[in-house]
Amino acid sequence: MVVLHSSKAASPATLGAFAYRRGPGASRNTIGKGPLTVRSVSTSVLTEVKSAPNATLAPLSALPTGVLLRSLLVATITSKPYLLRPSLSILSLLSKSNRGWLLNVDRNIILHSILKWTFYKQFCAGETGAESRATVQHLKDMGFQGTILTYAKEIVFDHSTHTQQGLGVTTEQVDQDNATEKHCPHIEAWRTGTLKTIDLLGEEDYLAMKLTGAGPTVAKAFAAGQMPPQQMIDALEEICEKCKVKGARVLVDAESQHFQRGIQRVTLEVMRQFNRDGYALVYNTYQAYLKSIPTTLAHHLAAASDDGFTLGLKLVRGAYIASDDRSLIHDTKQDTDEAYNSIAQGALRKEIGEFGAKNGRPFPSVNLFLASHNKASVLAAHSLHQQRTMEKLPTVPVGFAQLHGMSDDVSFGLLQLKGPGGSPQVYKCSTWGGMGECLAYLLRRAIENRDAVSRTQDEFQALKREVGRRLKAFVTFST
Ligand SMILES: Cc1cc2nc3c(=O)[nH]c(=O)nc-3n(C[C@H](O)[C@H](O)[C@H](O)COP(=O)(O)OP(=O)(O)OC[C@H]3O[C@@H](n4cnc5c(N)ncnc54)[C@H](O)[C@@H]3O)c2cc1C
Repeated sequence: MVVLHSSKAASPATLGAFAYRRGPGASRNTIGKGPLTVRSVSTSVLTEVKSAPNATLAPLSALPTGVLLRSLLVATITSKPYLLRPSLSILSLLSKSNRGWLLNVDRNIILHSILKWTFYKQFCAGETGAESRATVQHLKDMGFQGTILTYAKEIVFDHSTHTQQGLGVTTEQVDQDNATEKHCPHIEAWRTGTLKTIDLLGEEDYLAMKLTGAGPTVAKAFAAGQMPPQQMIDALEEICEKCKVKGARVLVDAESQHFQRGIQRVTLEVMRQFNRDGYALVYNTYQAYLKSIPTTLAHHLAAASDDGFTLGLKLVRGAYIASDDRSLIHDTKQDTDEAYNSIAQGALRKEIGEFGAKNGRPFPSVNLFLASHNKASVLAAHSLHQQRTMEKLPTVPVGFAQLHGMSDDVSFGLLQLKGPGGSPQVYKCSTWGGMGECLAYLLRRAIENRDAVSRTQDEFQALKREVGRRLKAFVTFST
């Protein structure tokens, strides 16, 4: 195991910003190791849990008209297979490296403009620092607790073809990797880009990191399940220190399974080092669609308990179903839903497998972050959190996030929920970077929308209703 340098203590001012989010009972316990089973909670059961919105306006009424119309345009494309299929093919073609001038989105001005005013602006924060800062502020002005910002570079591994596609890292560079290189220019470029991203954040914002963005040397180490080179570890420490001083937090994204063993390994070490002040500065991402996630989570809960640090538990369903080894992923969507809900609800009850169970092991300090567009999952989690807070039962701090440009009805719907336990902490997650760097991210969003047929349809209908409502109000007013 590579030992990371010890961190400096945060200033009281920095800690103060997070103090109110600390969960009760952040205990330090001796916990052994072993696989964990999670109680099954189906989505149909969850939908019965009700939260009463305290606002009468439709959630989408908070969207500025320009954004609403662009959202409707994008939702029209993504909800109609005959429009989405060709759009996906075009995006896929454009995202291949070594494109000629005509298909190069950074050089062909017409192509650049079309993409910029449609898909790019819908899902991304900006191509420059100034554009991104304006988006972050805009999201805060709309009532979100903050923004999660990420730098677009990453490498995606396709399990079926055994090829990897880099963003801002060409395939040739990936192949010509020199693992023994002392000073890697890719790590340096990623470090610089990530530090620039932190400059765009404010207090309460989050930095999201895709570690494979640091290039082929790092990706190779992760693929072998190893720790990355010291240069990368130093960069991670610098990034965490900078976020800590700024009052921002760090989410380490989960990526292709091919790299996940290494990513989990280094993230656990970073959490062990930096999550020692009663809150999670750093969160690891757990993909509920993986059959192995209960075992991984048990291992990490045990580590948090044994070593007395807070586990940052960011829970997602998983975004790499199209490229990852399918046998590692739950067989059905329902199984994934049940895994997601049982982990979320288990964390909120402070009971996951034997951790927190009667005669089991004590539950360690955990900060939960639910990244999901699934209305049933997030409403049920919020409701349970409210209920437990009201009844003074043990629970953990929880935040919610949806992607920028997606499921605004879920995000604004959550924002409208208020209860004795306070308002939910809702964030929007956006990506910044050059158009070329963001293409694979945009492609993934389009694929995700294609695969979530009923959600996409619901979103399209909600947007249409809101446009209709505004038109009606306009006509009524003017007649
Ligand atoms: C803020 C934020 C951060 C994110 N960060 C990450 C990250 O770091 N890493 C990552 O991988 N993803 C990440 N995601 C994406 C996430 O994993 C999902 O792809 C996406 O949010 C859709 O899932 P959902 O929970 O919104 O709900 P739904 O739309 O209800 O669920 C769709 C998901 O269910 C799963 N699924 C669909 N069909 C099947 C099937 N037949 N069998 C098994 N499972 C199935 C897939 O995971 C699919 O994406 C993030 C999402 C958000 C909102």
